[in-house]
Amino acid sequence: MTVMFERVALLGLGLIASSISHASRRKGLAKHIAGFARSAETRETAKQIGIVDSIHDTAAAAVKDADLVILCTPVGTYGALAQEIAPHLKPGAILTDVGSVKGAVVRDVSPHVPAGVHFIPGHPVAGTEQSGPRSGFAELFDNRWHILTPLPGNPPEKVQALEDFWVALGSNVERMTHDHHDLVLAMTSHLPHLIAYNTVATAGDVETVTQSEIIKFSAAGFRDFTRIAASDPTMWRDIFLNNREAVLEMLGRFTEELAVLQKAIRWGDGQTLFDLFSRARDIRRGIIAAGQDTAAPNFGRAPTKKN
Ligand code: NAP
Repeated sequence: MTVMFERVALLGLGLIASSISHASRRKGLAKHIAGFARSAETRETAKQIGIVDSIHDTAAAAVKDADLVILCTPVGTYGALAQEIAPHLKPGAILTDVGSVKGAVVRDVSPHVPAGVHFIPGHPVAGTEQSGPRSGFAELFDNRWHILTPLPGNPPEKVQALEDFWVALGSNVERMTHDHHDLVLAMTSHLPHLIAYNTVATAGDVETVTQSEIIKFSAAGFRDFTRIAASDPTMWRDIFLNNREAVLEMLGRFTEELAVLQKAIRWGDGQTLFDLFSRARDIRRGIIAAGQDTAAPNFGRAPTKKN
């Protein structure tokens, strides 16, 4: 048990904030966790499940005297939130976030950060398709990457303190620029979500196949897309609105590859299909070798029970 921060403020109390609290409590990293959520229902749940030591109905009240403030709402809210809390931040405090995009967050938050407060953006590359305070769990960050995108002028010891906190929560930490982060995540996270949303929506639009058939005969491939497509619509709307350039760049590359596949199918070019599928399978094997997923069939899920 090592207290790393006397007082941590979590603004927004969904999956990520709740998991930070559980992981922090597991090791006693914060003496006091103050929480803010906009709805009375979420505040009540947070109190009930014990993820906060004090609950506040304004963000300004929650950040008072906090040494570490973490923005945990959808990224589209960060600018207004930063403006609201700015006059109430403790001098010397670290302000960070968990937003899935970084360039837009730097653009929206930085202008509000008072001198003497250290804004160090970050992104836990860990999550599930569930939302809300009850969906959080202590192991969410274990062996997952946390990307820090420090800004010029961040004192090295403050960046190190934040890095140490995320390592103590269970993460491996890597530092990079916010532009590079947005390009990498556009490919590894944002594009797959866009494809999943589109695949599921397309299936829903196909008139010759009924909704009940889609549900009844959903094969593993389609079901995996539906899991991703169950993610929070507000969060994902904000991600696409705030990582436009990088997503459009990766989408352009994706559609070029798709056209290659389309042509190969039309012309019966099995070699092209086989080569591309083999390259793709090697990437999956690389992910397993890097310890970022299980080699068990069907991601190790238990077989579905008969009703
Ligand atoms: P979540 O479970 O949906 O929780 C979101 C929280 O933000 C809730 O407490 C919600 O309040 C609050 N909120 C929503 N809109 C708001 C607004 N307009 N003003 C103030 N508060 C608002 O979300 P999450 O999955 O924890 O995601 C939070 C952040 O983490 C996002 O920025 C996301 O990009 C990032 N992230 C998510 C994942 C993931 O897989 N989920 C992974 C990495 C990073 P109420 O409950 O009161 O409505």
